[in-house]
Amino acid sequence: MTTPRNQQLIKAINKMQSDRRFFPLICPDDHTHRLLCAEERNGEMVLACPDCLYITSEIPEAIIALCESEFKTTDDVADVILQDNPFK
Ligand SMILES: [Zn+2]
Repeated sequence: MTTPRNQQLIKAINKMQSDRRFFPLICPDDHTHRLLCAEERNGEMVLACPDCLYITSEIPEAIIALCESEFKTTDDVADVILQDNPFK
């Protein structure tokens, strides 16, 4: 079943995929394929490769957590989350 949370997450993941600050999720079958695209299939959130049949419902927890924090934080906060080590 489509939930508003899923739709929001899908939007956030796809936005993140085109955001250069983030390391994008790529196709494990062929790294030259286009970036994975979040979508909903049969009510389940999945990541799908636009260039082959690769599809996974295993979306990394870290990505989901990051997306959810994006919903309610400013870009400044997201920047801090994104940096490998902001205290360097
Ligand atoms: Zn692919």
